[in-house]
Amino acid sequence: MKIAVLPGDGIGPEIVAQAVKVLRALAAEGQSIEWEEAPIGGAGYDAAGDPLPEATLALARQADAVMLGAVGGVQYDALPRPQRPEQGLLRIRKALGLFANLRPALLYAELADASTLKPEVVAGLDIMIVRELTGDIYFGQPRGLRTNDRGEREGFNTMIYAEPEIRRVARVAFDIAMKRDKRLCSVEKANVLETSELWREVVIETARDYPQVALSHMYVDNAAMQLVRDPKQFDVIVTGNIFGDILSDEASMLTGSIGMLPSASLDDGDKGLYEPIHGSAPDIAGKNIANPLATILSVAMMMRHTFNQEETANRIERAVKKVLAQGLRTADIYVAGTRQASTGEMGDAVVAAL
Ligand code: NAD
Repeated sequence: MKIAVLPGDGIGPEIVAQAVKVLRALAAEGQSIEWEEAPIGGAGYDAAGDPLPEATLALARQADAVMLGAVGGVQYDALPRPQRPEQGLLRIRKALGLFANLRPALLYAELADASTLKPEVVAGLDIMIVRELTGDIYFGQPRGLRTNDRGEREGFNTMIYAEPEIRRVARVAFDIAMKRDKRLCSVEKANVLETSELWREVVIETARDYPQVALSHMYVDNAAMQLVRDPKQFDVIVTGNIFGDILSDEASMLTGSIGMLPSASLDDGDKGLYEPIHGSAPDIAGKNIANPLATILSVAMMMRHTFNQEETANRIERAVKKVLAQGLRTADIYVAGTRQASTGEMGDAVVAAL
């Protein structure tokens, strides 16, 4: 297993160090794992004047999987857009063809009180959101800023999806649904947008190959509402880039902490980029208080989706559950009666449980 490790900025290096402890523990058991680190985001800009240095992309291309921390920091906010840390992330996703973003929203029983929703609404929650990642309004051309005939400034973007882009992400979602409760909800805005009209048609066509999966459709505004009203009605959700961006952040809050949720971004083979869903959290960077569990759980997703090591993935997830059951909590999920742990202590505890 060849892994490119890209810690990035802010809390990135602290949380990735804990995930590396898990890799080291697996290697010590005799699993054949190699990893190499490279800078990305602000760290890439500092090292090579580019948020995605050539050497970093080359390493990521050679690797089977990429483990990423997070990018971004206020010191980079004034840079021209191409040099900003977030561009590093957008470019590596595009360059590696990572079109399917898997974001589970899973509530651990021990953390039911950490959600802002009533425990009975979220207890047992287990949703998988599949978000298309390389198309839609974030990449569509034309885009830009201009002055119109009336002398007013205008901003414009293009929402666009081609049939194959929809079909391949729909397939990923149907395949995942087959391994779960076999229910898939496709989310769009077909009542208003032509892009969504095509989305719905192609998803329905794809469904013919998956007769066992119960397919439903929902408008994105309703989906946003249903996610807080009755989130347990969902099993797998598939949606486009911008809708998925918003809905998956909303879903993350159902579980209480952004510090708990991993993600995977997959290409059409086995390659994937694995990262926590949160950002670089500059407000707590360097304090050894960030929650490393989302990053560690990303290693579990890597074992499952790139290396097909279901048992290793399950073991990592069980180790995380055990540590939570022991009452260990980082500051973001701390409640009275539990024991507060630093980033490093949490990583050590997971390795011990593993
Ligand atoms: P953020 O996710 O970094 O932080 C939001 C809040 O959640 C903060 O209060 C932070 O302290 C907390 N938080 C996040 N991760 C945590 C963890 N593991 N443990 C404990 N608390 C945690 O979002 P933001 O503040 O909007 O953005 C900060 C920077 O991160 C920006 O530069 C932004 O562009 C970047 N960003 C990067 C990514 C990414 O790398 N994938 C994603 C989102 C934002």
